[in-house]
Formats: sequence, structure tokens, C-alpha cells
Amino acid sequence: AANLPKWRRVVVKLSGEALMGDAPHGLHAPTLERIAADLAAAAELGTQIAVVVGGGNFFRGILGADKGIERARADSIGMLATVMNGLALEQAIEARGRQARCLSAVPMPSLCESFSRRAALHHLAKGRVVISAGGTGLPFFTTDTPAVVRAAELSADAVLKATQVDGVYTADPKRDPNARRYDTLTHDEAIAKNLAVMDTAAFALARENKIPIVVFSIAGDGSIRAILEGKGRGTFVLP
Ligand code: UDP
Repeated sequence: AANLPKWRRVVVKLSGEALMGDAPHGLHAPTLERIAADLAAAAELGTQIAVVVGGGNFFRGILGADKGIERARADSIGMLATVMNGLALEQAIEARGRQARCLSAVPMPSLCESFSRRAALHHLAKGRVVISAGGTGLPFFTTDTPAVVRAAELSADAVLKATQVDGVYTADPKRDPNARRYDTLTHDEAIAKNLAVMDTAAFALARENKIPIVVFSIAGDGSIRAILEGKGRGTFVLP
């Protein structure tokens, strides 16, 4: 279709779980290496790549209540978890010979640079993979929101949302054998049909700013690059 995004610059939303692989929590080294190789290979295509990384493999704010930790503080712990992933990813990408910069929304200058739009654009222009960690820096959000915010402020062509399934389905494909995958959807259709593409706050922002979202599976080798090459499978949510 004529309105398909051109991949000059993209934001890849990578959940912490994507880095967990078969491990029960935390980082799974072969999975980290596989995804870093994919990102480095994707950057080889000349597309500027910013990654917004989650932290669910270490901690999620909503789990705080179980541990007697109030939500705002638990979210601080969650944001720190995203920086752990960001630092690991930065090193893994650089090990593949591609420069990367982890930028944190929560300033921690002895560990990494603080996020600023200017710094991010500078590193992108140099061909570095930018990793946006620390979420928004605010509690009561998940990393879906900074994925859309970064896409908007960096004028990215799309958010590529890496998930465990290869798109958005009419029903849960794990439970309903008749579930059908959408090739394309509009933001309005996704809302009308009550399809959960990402968190509602983040999705509203994407809709308002007409930001395309590509939902695809991170399971296979080279899946991020494949999306950029037009070979991958996924659901395109277009304005
Ligand atoms: N978080 C936050 N503000 C943000 C982004 C994230 O407080 O802007 C916290 C929140 O507690 C969240 C955790 O960081 O649960 C980890 O992020 P997320 O749950 O999005 O990780 P993912 O599910 O992508 O692994």
C-alpha cells in the first residue's frame, strides 16, 4: 500500500522478556547475542535505529504490591531494570562491531549518558544504535509509552513492537484455533475492535500522532532486519 512506512528511522520496542529467552528471569546470553546481532544487521541496511528497552525480565512496577512496595517506588525499580537491559544490550551490539549508545531518561551519568533528543539524533546520525532506557522517567507508565514518545520526538517512521506472536489476531491464537492474523489495521479499527496492540496510554498517543506500529515476533533469527527488508511477517497498524 502507498502509505506503508519507509524505513529511514525506526524505534524498536524490545520487552525485557524478549531478552529472557529460556531463562526464568534476567538475561539469557544466547538470546541477548541473537537480538544484538539482529539489531546490528538491521542497522547495516542504513536505517537509523533507536531501541526502547523494557525491564520485565527483572522487575515490573505492578509486582511491587505483592512485595509491600508502593507503586511509585516499585516503578523506580522497574525503570532501573530497563537500564540494566540497556547496558547489556549496548555492549552486545558493540561486540557485533556496531556502535551503540545507551541513553537513560533517569540521569545516572557514571553509568551512561542521559537521554536528550539532541544527543539521540546526534548518535543516530552517526549510525549508532541508540538504546533509550529508563522509560519515560516517570512512574505509572510501561515502556510502550516511551516507545511512542521517542518515535514522535525523533520523527521515526514507525514503532516496531517485538512480541512473542507474529502480529495482531482476531482472538488469542493460543486459545482459539480460528483466530486470524491481520496484515494491516488502522488505529481506529484496533480501538473499535478492542484489539490490544499496546498499552492504552501509549496507543492513544500513537493514534493521535499518526505513528505506524508494526507488531511482529522476535522469536526467529534476524526478525527485525526481515521487517525492514519487507520479508518479515507482522501486522501493520497504519493511520
Ligand atoms: N516503568 C516506569 N515508567 C516508564 C517505563 C517503565 O515506571 O516510563 C517501570 C514500570 O514499573 C514497568 C517497568 O518499568 O513495569 C518495566 O517496564 P515494562 O513493564 O514496560 O517492561 P517490559 O514489559 O517491556 O519488559
